[in-house]
Parts: sequence; C-alpha cells; structure tokens
Amino acid sequence: MKSVAGSNIAMMVNLDDCLGCFGCEAACRETHRYPYDEDWMRVVRREPYLVDGKLRQYHLVAPELDKCAACYAVDPDPLCVRGCPAGALAIGALADLAQEAQGKHVAIFSA
Ligand code: SF4
Ligand code: SF4
Repeated sequence: MKSVAGSNIAMMVNLDDCLGCFGCEAACRETHRYPYDEDWMRVVRREPYLVDGKLRQYHLVAPELDKCAACYAVDPDPLCVRGCPAGALAIGALADLAQEAQGKHVAIFSA
C-alpha cells in the first residue's frame, strides 16, 4: 500500500469475511509484545442473529488507531493485515479505504 504521510490512517474490516478468529489480535500482540493489561487490537465475537431472514454472525475488531498509525509508518503491511486468513482486514488512508469499501459490508475505524 502506498505511503500516506500526512493523511488520516484508518482500518477497515470486511464484516462478511471476518471469521472472528482472533488472529489479528494475536498478531498485534506478537508484533509489539505489550503487557497483557493493554489491548492495542481486540476482536469482539458476537452471537449469530437474523438478517433478512438469514442467520448471520458478524464480528468486530477494535484497533487502537494511534498505535496503528505509528505501526503503519514503520510497516505498511503489518502482520495483523497480512496474516488475516480471510483477507478481511485493511489499513491505509481513509480516502483509499472508503473507495475500496464501495459495495462491501465493512466497518471503517478512523481517528
Ligand atoms: S480480521 Fe481477520 S484475523 Fe482478525 S478476527 Fe477477523 S478473520 Fe481473524
Ligand atoms: S496495525 Fe499494528 S498496532 Fe494496529 S492492530 Fe495491526 S499490528 Fe496492531
């Protein structure tokens, strides 16, 4: 992903694809080795519920965006993103992610 110095860094999760596997949470902790009383990235697993008559299960990620911005400045393809087994996670400039989100069911986190 291209450099986005000076622009807002955002993180996007594809709600249809995320498996709720906790991989990004583990990848973040493995990368940065922060204490266990800190959470730079959390995965929130949700119970299944009915959407338009179909049982769906959406999970959510909760990144600490100030940490992510610093992380992204060092590595624009962080382990949380490249290790996601579903390819559900993306990081980059808010404008780029908003473009990429067209027609998809996503959550975008921005500072
Ligand atoms: S974003 Fe990817 S790595 Fe994180 S919980 Fe969802 S599927 Fe797993
Ligand atoms: S971008 Fe870096 S700080 Fe943010 S969740 Fe991923 S590994 Fe953690």
